[in-house]
Amino acid sequence: MNRDIDSTLEKTVQSHNLEKEILHLLKTKDEKKLFNTANETRKKYVGDEVHLRALVEFSNYCKQNCLYCGLRRDNSRVKRYRIDPQDIIELAKKAKSYGYKTIVLQSGEDSYYTVEKMARIISHIKDLDIALTLSIGEKTFEEYKAYRDAGADRYLLRIETTDENLYAKLNPGMSLKNRMRCIENIKKLGYEVGSGIIAGLPGQTLESIAKDIIYLKSIPVDMAGIGPFIYHSNTPIENIEGDFFNLSLKIMAVLRLILPDINIPATTAMETLNPNGRLIALQSGANVVMPNATETIYRRHYEIYPGKICLGDSPAHCRGCIENKIKSINRYVSSGKGFHIRQGVV
Ligand code: SAH
Ligand code: SF4
Repeated sequence: MNRDIDSTLEKTVQSHNLEKEILHLLKTKDEKKLFNTANETRKKYVGDEVHLRALVEFSNYCKQNCLYCGLRRDNSRVKRYRIDPQDIIELAKKAKSYGYKTIVLQSGEDSYYTVEKMARIISHIKDLDIALTLSIGEKTFEEYKAYRDAGADRYLLRIETTDENLYAKLNPGMSLKNRMRCIENIKKLGYEVGSGIIAGLPGQTLESIAKDIIYLKSIPVDMAGIGPFIYHSNTPIENIEGDFFNLSLKIMAVLRLILPDINIPATTAMETLNPNGRLIALQSGANVVMPNATETIYRRHYEIYPGKICLGDSPAHCRGCIENKIKSINRYVSSGKGFHIRQGVV
């Protein structure tokens, strides 16, 4: 069953049965070859530069109840916090002074931040002449439009899984249909679209992951983030064992081959599972890192999953640390805003 990756890739590009070919890549025994080919493709299409995005986790309140997430509303053990709008703007200014060209504002679904509050935050940050990404969950078309009108450039909303039954089971009160509608609306409004999945969810299969990849291609996404599932003991989900680090790496590599010019982050969750996780990902197809720019006092409370890295570090420390790591693998930090540059491949 171990056909040569090169021939599979060729077939994948022309294939009418993309799912079968993706599945074959995900199941390959020659993982090294898959990772190396993805690394070469990354170099060819998006070069050696690494785009940094400063992540500001501004609220851990959430009205949703996703079974896998430590911020779910029924987790009463989490100490909830909100960062004041003016302080969010200050954090963005600080991040800019460290050389970041993109700020990512992420939170649980927190209705404290009304459309007006968010629009004000967005337009102040945009005055700093940096790119702005939002990752604040499911909203109406009108809300997404208001944020876009205020200047937001990109939006991250992972599809998590395209398996409808699994989605319904893991996301009570939510639906795959609505999640897809949100992603379509984000696209329609001219945002750069970031989506992705969690790799290793209980009940997820390689077949469904192959379908997830096809879905991401169908959008097509400008950014695809893959995070390994990390069990949180204050959630009702099953704790299953598996090498989700390796699985995530394979999915990232396949995405690089199928959507060669997109942005792919080496996610923080990868580093939680392996001390060199982000560098390994950067050498297997990824070209983006999202260092934490949240103030140290809040970090440990933004516990989507346990074991998050750099909890005691300051935003300034994280900026310097990641640059040194990137240099250690002969890559360099980009001086641009890192928008997706289409190269006519999808
Ligand atoms: N509330 C927003 C953004 C914050 S959550 C949203 O849900 O879109 C950001 C991401 O964290 C989610 O998309 C999910 O993919 C990831 N996540 C949640 N729980 C996780 C876990 N236990 N392990 C790994 N990733 C997780
Ligand atoms: Fe809330 Fe996002 Fe966590 Fe779901 S994944 S509970 S929406 S923070």
